[in-house]
Amino acid sequence: MRIIVVGGGIGGLALAAGMRRHGFDVAVFDRDTDVAATGGYHITLDGRAQAALRELVPPEIVEQLLASASALRLRAPDAFWNRRGRLLGRGPRLADSPSVDIDRVTLRTLLADAVGDDLQLGRTVTDIGRTDDGTPQVVLADGSLRRCDLLVGADGTHSLVARRLAGGPTNKPAGFVGFSGRTTAEDLSPRERQRLGPRSGLAIGPRGAALYVGFLDPVGNAVLDAPSRRAAITSGPTYILGRDVPRIRWDRLDARPQRRRVTGRAAGQVPPPRVERTSARGHRTGRSRQRRRLPVPCRLVTGTRPRPLARRSRHRPR
Ligand SMILES: Cc1cc2nc3c(=O)[nH]c(=O)nc-3n(C[C@H](O)[C@H](O)[C@H](O)COP(=O)(O)OP(=O)(O)OC[C@H]3O[C@@H](n4cnc5c(N)ncnc54)[C@H](O)[C@@H]3O)c2cc1C
Repeated sequence: MRIIVVGGGIGGLALAAGMRRHGFDVAVFDRDTDVAATGGYHITLDGRAQAALRELVPPEIVEQLLASASALRLRAPDAFWNRRGRLLGRGPRLADSPSVDIDRVTLRTLLADAVGDDLQLGRTVTDIGRTDDGTPQVVLADGSLRRCDLLVGADGTHSLVARRLAGGPTNKPAGFVGFSGRTTAEDLSPRERQRLGPRSGLAIGPRGAALYVGFLDPVGNAVLDAPSRRAAITSGPTYILGRDVPRIRWDRLDARPQRRRVTGRAAGQVPPPRVERTSARGHRTGRSRQRRRLPVPCRLVTGTRPRPLARRSRHRPR
């Protein structure tokens, strides 16, 4: 049986690795040209995810994966802050947790190893359909066609396969925009390291805005002490900062200029929208470039060598 998987992300690669292991003829097409060039940060694999991976990928890959992962049981409990950095509470004790955190790039790289030559990178699928005799087929960006007996859509959130099968969009915007960045712990000041601690956390702002701080230490908190098998992309403790903000309705902002002054260093990291006021005759007024700041008072860290986090003491967890 010839199987084509559209999308070589976490799901597509795990499935293809399992099919390959069971002797199926499988081909995975992904538009990315390099598995390591993917975005994303760490991902938590709970006990069920680990059990599934054990069935799908060879034991040596599972071992590499665990040697490159960070055990949650070795991490301090999660922290929850309010928008001013005041500690609201802590998550459950992690001492008994079987879950592990792994860098997404590491996970994808290892899954790609398990799939081997059956993963074809730089192959964008532009359409799917059937031949005259009903055989499923995919159309690739270079115009070539590939036939199969089974076609699997693993092409993520904006899946083309799902869209074609459903005859229209299969999702709609949730009203939030998220983005993230990472910094190594050694790039932070000792004070910031102490403030964040060896834990993940969440700062909750108004209207659903949130700043996620993830802590990943695949060496210090390694699940398996097997340095030779380690494939982590991050070698030392790393903080991942992800931010969710309500999607800004530019049209409404234009109609109703923001007067509220919201402070916060995060504002400086995001290009502020231009809110233009016009007079009755349509001329710009003196306050035409009013800036709107975003509400969470934590500074977003992007790129690999960010500047230190905010130093204001009132943002320090108590
Ligand atoms: C902020 C956040 C945190 C999360 N945390 C966790 C967590 O801790 N634990 C957990 O289990 N899950 C978590 N998830 C969910 C998890 O990330 C997703 O469920 C998972 O990545 C989905 O995998 P996938 O293979 O379906 O899609 P993806 O990983 O998105 O892969 C889709 C692939 O398809 C490729 N592709 C798309 N279109 C085409 C095309 N036309 N042609 C060729 N290739 C194409 C893309 O390049 C991509 O590689 C989180 C999700 C988010 C957004």
